Amino acid sequence: MPDLNKIIFRRPNDLPAVKFMRSDVPRAAVPAARGKYYESLAPDTLNVEERARLFVERYLCNIVAPELMYEPFNRGCFDVDPPRLSLDSGSYLCAWAKYRESLPLMRLMCGSDAGLEIDSAWARHILMCIGDDGLFYVPLVGRPYESIKAYPWLSLENAEFYTNLFIGQGRLLGALSIYYAMTGDETWNRTARAIVDRLNQLAIRMDGVAFFPQFYYTPGVRVSEMQIRKSISEWERLKAKGRSSEFAGATQGEIEENTALWQTWIAVGLAQYYKVSHYEPARELAYGIVNYLRRVRYVEDWSSHTHCVTLGIHAMLELAQATGDVELAEYARKSYEFAKSGERMVALPRIGYFVNFTTPEGAEGCTIGDMTALAVKLAQMGMGDQYWEDVDRYARNCLTEIQRTTPEHAAGVFEKLREREKPPETPVAYYELADQLAERMVGSFSSHYYPNDLFASTYFDSCCSGNCSRALYYVWESIVRRDNGRLKVNLLLNRTSPWADIDSHVPHAGRVDIKIKKPVGSLQVRMNDWIEKDKVKCAVNGRPLPYTWQGAYLTTGPLKPRDEIVLSFPIRERSETLESFGFRFDTVFRGNDCMSMEPKGEFYALYQRDHYRQPVRFVKVKRFASENAVDY
Ligand SMILES: [Zn+2]
Repeated sequence: MPDLNKIIFRRPNDLPAVKFMRSDVPRAAVPAARGKYYESLAPDTLNVEERARLFVERYLCNIVAPELMYEPFNRGCFDVDPPRLSLDSGSYLCAWAKYRESLPLMRLMCGSDAGLEIDSAWARHILMCIGDDGLFYVPLVGRPYESIKAYPWLSLENAEFYTNLFIGQGRLLGALSIYYAMTGDETWNRTARAIVDRLNQLAIRMDGVAFFPQFYYTPGVRVSEMQIRKSISEWERLKAKGRSSEFAGATQGEIEENTALWQTWIAVGLAQYYKVSHYEPARELAYGIVNYLRRVRYVEDWSSHTHCVTLGIHAMLELAQATGDVELAEYARKSYEFAKSGERMVALPRIGYFVNFTTPEGAEGCTIGDMTALAVKLAQMGMGDQYWEDVDRYARNCLTEIQRTTPEHAAGVFEKLREREKPPETPVAYYELADQLAERMVGSFSSHYYPNDLFASTYFDSCCSGNCSRALYYVWESIVRRDNGRLKVNLLLNRTSPWADIDSHVPHAGRVDIKIKKPVGSLQVRMNDWIEKDKVKCAVNGRPLPYTWQGAYLTTGPLKPRDEIVLSFPIRERSETLESFGFRFDTVFRGNDCMSMEPKGEFYALYQRDHYRQPVRFVKVKRFASENAVDY
């Protein structure tokens, strides 16, 4: 691993220290992954545990400034020379908000103990940013690089702090839910509860729905009567029309007036928190917002920023899962299916490429993160076994294909940009990070890509790496699950767990090895759609093992520790043409893995996977069997 300079921020002499809401904060437990470590040889195939390690050790540890409590660098600026990341308004409200949620999840996956000081500082940092009203506030003193001009509707002259409700609180509720679930420390529960209570005070309720009249706040600021009246009349108008789609178009609805769009994050966080706390006001408010979204047909219309629509669906599924609401889950499922159908928007579900345009546009990384999350939630809720097939297709293709795994991924793109665009040489400011950037970006996810190209534009933002890393956790958590003595393997992907370790040779060969570690009453393994069920062979410790089928699940009898199960089946290559709204690609699939795609992308061609045609290679991996994984 390269040794990168950790001092990436030097405070100018005339810049005051960052002023936080409070410095005297209670000591609270920091989430930590517990489990067993060991080394073993594993097939060199997709390993989401190693992908989590890349995210933590190669990316996250190298883009946070220790001098600023490990504030993350956020936005990419790749159209200048040298390319760089910057500390900016997204550092708190995008990067930190999302990485704070991902980091403990990534540690549960890979057990990495690199940069543990970040976790401690970040836990303390949450409490240092909580204001008297319970909300999380972003400090402005000592952070002049916060581009407050990005919010023209917000009067921040002379303000020392500000916040927004959607990411500032909504996303934080997710992180606090993980913190509380992993530590049991009531500090996190109290912090989340206070946010929910304040949100409840700020929300307007009428006609069985709840919504927020205003999303940005400075401490002590009340919503004006005029703003409340404006919001109510806006609601009356939307209710009468039964539509929220008028804000689409060039902005994709990301404007202050599109009140439906901004509610989505808040509802996701409320549902996540309700799941771990059963705090009734969180459930009620989440339902109020979800009802609002339903009344204006926000997720049915698909006429807003793609990622925000998927977040709306996510909110509904998260809430449905937490409350057992089958009707709501079914409503959300229809919207997911609509996106997949490709009737009115670009959809290549074979690889997980979605964007709500009717022309061949680049997709935001967040979209595949979200679509993976939705497929996982639908499958977990028993809405249909085919959703595991979707998860497998997305995880093996777009989701992991857009993660940078070598410095060459960023360096190759930077080099081409330099050749073609001849970007102007620009001095690097103190709040920018250009030093060995391609190295630091290993583990991050592309923010804007084409089906065949890692690069669709110079847009780079933390949001996508936050959402895609979270999706990696959803996938990992789903690979194997245990209930009532039954071990269920839903995805044929590598996985370490306290109950069994899974070594997948797919797609090199049709073979999966399962090493049992704890006694199981029965083992159920889902066989993908492409597997010929009548040709599956199953052996235990070298001898044939009888099995039956329950749907797509191969089902065995009881097994004991040290039993080694080998499942084998033929794997073949098939040519397929993928087409949608002006996109047309000739592809070859081996199982669910896309092996090649023509025409190739211009900047960094995706799916260069010839190596999967060779016999499987084994690599030494650090395995970690997590014992306190959260049901997230
Ligand atoms: Zn994004």
